[in-house]
Amino acid sequence: MRLSWIWPSRAEDRFESWLLQSHEERVLAGETTPVGPCPDESFLRDLARRAKWIALSDPRVSHAANCPKCMTRLLIFRQRNRSRQRKLALTTAVAICIVIAAVVITVTRQGMHRRLQSADVAIVPETVNLWDAGTIRSSEPGSLQSVSLPVAVIRITIVLPRFSPQGQYSVAITQDRNGNGVIAQGSAQATTNGDHESVSVELDLRAAKAGAYFLATTHEQDQASYYYPLQIK
Ligand SMILES: [Zn+2]
Repeated sequence: MRLSWIWPSRAEDRFESWLLQSHEERVLAGETTPVGPCPDESFLRDLARRAKWIALSDPRVSHAANCPKCMTRLLIFRQRNRSRQRKLALTTAVAICIVIAAVVITVTRQGMHRRLQSADVAIVPETVNLWDAGTIRSSEPGSLQSVSLPVAVIRITIVLPRFSPQGQYSVAITQDRNGNGVIAQGSAQATTNGDHESVSVELDLRAAKAGAYFLATTHEQDQASYYYPLQIK
């Protein structure tokens, strides 16, 4: 990876060739003696950094280009700057790599987690045949049929009792026969198989504690609810 925005730029290379070139020109012209006194350290440091405020027409620049002492110091500063820049570039590169790695790990983990979740959730098919089952009206006492369901995500297919009307049904697992304490709920259109009406919904019972519950079927048009005792094991 080339970090061109941090490594010494072409402009810096050009600046260095300009310094050398102007030095050569002056040597060729016989002007080997630097003009004026040596500028102070801070000026040379700024010059090495190519600080924007320094104009190339500044007499101290042409002095530095012709004074071996200033040139040496200038080159030392340039070296220091470059190694600082390289360190910065390296640190930045490492930081970028860490961020990229973190992002990649997070994205991969999320993907794996999602795949695991969908792999974990095996939907257990369950069939409950209420064809011959008597029903318990919410007001009627009695226990006529017991059904057992697992603590899992289930796809429950309920064969509705004979004479059940067609239409949309809601299916719920409740804690009592008055429809209180709904553990899970789903809704679907009943399908006809010959003379049987059946309804199939997905219910997530993973959060349910083992125990006694009721399976409630409610015909959504006439709002008639029927409750069947069941066990979650
Ligand atoms: Zn000098």
